[in-house]
Amino acid sequence: MSELERGRGSAPVPREWTYAPAPESREIVSLHERYGHFVGGEWLEPTETYTTLSPADEEPLAVVGQATPAEVGHAVAAAREAFEDWSGLPGSERAKYLFRIARILQERSREFAVLESLNGGKPIKESRDVDLPLAAAHFFYYAGWADKLEYAFPNRAPKPLGVAGQIIPWNFPLLMLAWKVAPALAAGNTVVLKPAETTPLTALLFCDVVCQAELPSGVVNIVTGDGSAGAALVDADVDKIAFTGSTEVGKAIQRRLAGSGKKLTLELGGKAANIVFDDAAIDQAVEGIVNGIYFNQGHVCCAGSRLFVQESVAEPLIDKLKRRMATLRVGDPLDKNTDVGAINSRQQLAKIEELVAAGRAEGAEIYQPPCRLPEKGYWFAPTVFTNVAQSYRIAQEEIFGPVLSVLTFRTPDEAVEKANNTPYGLSAGVWTEKGSRILWMAERLRAGVVWANTYNRFDPASPFGGYKESGFGREGGLHGLAPYVDGD
Ligand code: NAP
Ligand code: MG
Repeated sequence: MSELERGRGSAPVPREWTYAPAPESREIVSLHERYGHFVGGEWLEPTETYTTLSPADEEPLAVVGQATPAEVGHAVAAAREAFEDWSGLPGSERAKYLFRIARILQERSREFAVLESLNGGKPIKESRDVDLPLAAAHFFYYAGWADKLEYAFPNRAPKPLGVAGQIIPWNFPLLMLAWKVAPALAAGNTVVLKPAETTPLTALLFCDVVCQAELPSGVVNIVTGDGSAGAALVDADVDKIAFTGSTEVGKAIQRRLAGSGKKLTLELGGKAANIVFDDAAIDQAVEGIVNGIYFNQGHVCCAGSRLFVQESVAEPLIDKLKRRMATLRVGDPLDKNTDVGAINSRQQLAKIEELVAAGRAEGAEIYQPPCRLPEKGYWFAPTVFTNVAQSYRIAQEEIFGPVLSVLTFRTPDEAVEKANNTPYGLSAGVWTEKGSRILWMAERLRAGVVWANTYNRFDPASPFGGYKESGFGREGGLHGLAPYVDGD
């Protein structure tokens, strides 16, 4: 028995699982060499450009526009021009377009999923099973509200705001677009959206969907580029800014908009506590911990990046967690077996490396399962730190990578106190078999979302957003529609 070992008289188990490659074909995606800005239903030739890459192997994928303030201004003017007709349509007509977009996204979901993984580095099974179904679900959900705004906001005569400027990050490019565009259009606004510099391609493919759905010109406009294009959008003649990204940039935008009369919602960073009590189903909790921090390489604002374990079960739980981590498959995002894909960019990798080095220097104990990382591209092995003190940078700062910090507690009060000891307040997880304890904890945790015996679950009907430095305003549900309407 060289390859196989008999485990305690039961069935033979291989010493090491090896998986045959199961690559998803790239054929379904046909990329243009060059993209412009999508303004007023047409492609505007950009004056400045840059090249967008695949983070898994640094292969250049396409040349895209770097929007100048003038180009951003054109996009806003196109949105302004389209506003009167779009907002004047009966809600049931706007709903038809949104339903169409939702259905086209479903029909073309494989194409979008492959492109999302190619440009962003996330595993294909996540873009296929999470990003795409949820993006379509958001359009379906808000399509349903478009003709029911008076019921959504009774006695308020809801009216759209006008032109919404929307700025999104690189971790869920198409899904963040859906979170922003769907409620804005349902309420009768027109939009100018800027995707993140590193992941513009699914937003540009979305322009194709907009054309296919025959959405009136100028209702959706997309400009690409780096932070300066985002800053130009903030300064442009828009009625609202919806921003998802870092707390630092969010604060700068808030300062910039103070006194301008423009409305603002901010969805910012997080450093969530995932709290495991000694009565929790441990194996289930381990799965939730893994999903909480290694999903999408930990590039998740609500990632369960601080694990709090009740002291009496800390040792067995950490053992199980390490064993489970050793089974995670890190590699080609387009391989259907991959659990952990590529880090989104060189800059993000450098940020993760810096914080991990700080964790070591401060005295935390590091564990990384043995795994072979590809030579080209941006990669980081799943990592867990134990012996972490609350004061360490890895327990305080958002790492936004596959790095978990483990801390312990003895009593529920201590768990609450430690979990809330952060400037952020986006999400939290509680693992216990006691329903009463879940409610007791949820009441005390300062977090916009509290998951119980699960983690990273999303639904378009359920509001999502933060407290404190995680921002304000909600996305999803009726709460996500409210920031796009004015009412008397
Ligand atoms: P970021 O640097 O703040 O970027 C977010 C977006 O803003 C990008 O499109 C970015 O362009 C743009 N931008 C940069 N500087 C700007 C400026 N001065 N004015 C206007 N726009 C500007 O954040 P990121 O590094 O891409 O994303 C990671 C962060 O987003 C994390 O902190 C994470 O927690 C947060 N996030 C929060 C949520 C949530 O729902 N709460 C969801 C996802 C991510 P560039 O791409 O060129 O930088
Ligand atoms: Mg950035």
